[in-house]
Amino acid sequence: MMKNIAIIGAGVSGLTAAHALKYKAHVKLFDKSRGVGGRMSTRYAGAYEFDHGAQFFTARDSRFQKVVELAIDQGVVAPWHGRAFYKKGTALEVDIGSDRFAAVPRMNSWPKVMAKGLDISLGARVSKLTRDDKQWELHFEDGGIQAGFDHIICAVPSVQAIELLPDNFSGMEALKSVQMDACFALMIGFDQLHDFGWDSLRVNDDVNAWLAVNSSKPERNKDVTTLMIHSAPQWSNLHADADREWVQAQMERSASEICGIDISAAPHRALHRWLYSSVSASPQKGALHAQALGLTACGDWCLGGRVEGAYLSGLAAADALISQC
Ligand SMILES: Cc1cc2nc3c(=O)[nH]c(=O)nc-3n(C[C@H](O)[C@H](O)[C@H](O)COP(=O)(O)OP(=O)(O)OC[C@H]3O[C@@H](n4cnc5c(N)ncnc54)[C@H](O)[C@@H]3O)c2cc1C
Repeated sequence: MMKNIAIIGAGVSGLTAAHALKYKAHVKLFDKSRGVGGRMSTRYAGAYEFDHGAQFFTARDSRFQKVVELAIDQGVVAPWHGRAFYKKGTALEVDIGSDRFAAVPRMNSWPKVMAKGLDISLGARVSKLTRDDKQWELHFEDGGIQAGFDHIICAVPSVQAIELLPDNFSGMEALKSVQMDACFALMIGFDQLHDFGWDSLRVNDDVNAWLAVNSSKPERNKDVTTLMIHSAPQWSNLHADADREWVQAQMERSASEICGIDISAAPHRALHRWLYSSVSASPQKGALHAQALGLTACGDWCLGGRVEGAYLSGLAAADALISQC
């Protein structure tokens, strides 16, 4: 008989695990958000669109390269040939790295395609897990319960996994060793076109770490200029709970100096806080798997962060279960 598997989290790792398992088991996904994709996400404000989580992705592992190639053929991913620089002192140097890809026409387009055909409940925040002799029950924030799961894959950021998983989960120590950093995402929309001389800029500023012209990505609205600014990890951790207006003013001041224009005069300005953004300490294991207990934890944090890490971790979680299905 096919096993019943619940996957908590419909980000890249949860969606990947679900696809790999869908013909081997009954798979149900649950996510607290209104849409799929987790941190691979997009915000809209009239003509302005911002990929306020993942900016782009690279593909170094051959398994992920194949998936990216397929997504390019399907027209849901495209290379981003933006002018990439980093700021060294006052000089700008070319940021040479692996090829960069973006989902098109926006970052959450790819997870939406991945979600097709899967059984997903949105707006379903899991607040507690309980187990009888053999099976797991999911308890939801709204008081609902779903029972009868042989196995649970917890595909959420490490801190949220610690809150849900029991203390006797064998991966708990590894989970607690993970360090995820906060990040503020400042979204700036100009109704006029601006050319800063770069499309992405890494900076070694106390406040900001990354600026990107979102509208330079493939298939974005080119009639406006949208600028995405991310704060630096250390600064973000230190000020995660600070007054948002103060945070925004600091980021705008720093970005204005870098861009050479007054960012605070832009017609659209909005700030989002990510409590769990990049990963600065990781167990470097594909997934944390406890077969006897019926639990697996996966996510980008398993493999050092990033979209590719999330994909490979979701795959590792599914691989660990497939032999048991
Ligand atoms: C600001 C920022 C910039 C980034 N830049 C890049 C980049 O340039 N390149 C790159 O490769 N990566 C980047 N990343 C990282 C990339 O977005 C992640 O590595 C990847 O999207 C993580 O996927 P995931 O499935 O592991 O987790 P997530 O995407 O976080 O998915 C977890 C899901 O679990 C859900 N969830 C959590 N708790 C519960 C619960 N209790 N009940 C139900 N659902 C729950 C969440 O709603 C979420 O949808 C960036 C991330 C951020 C935030």
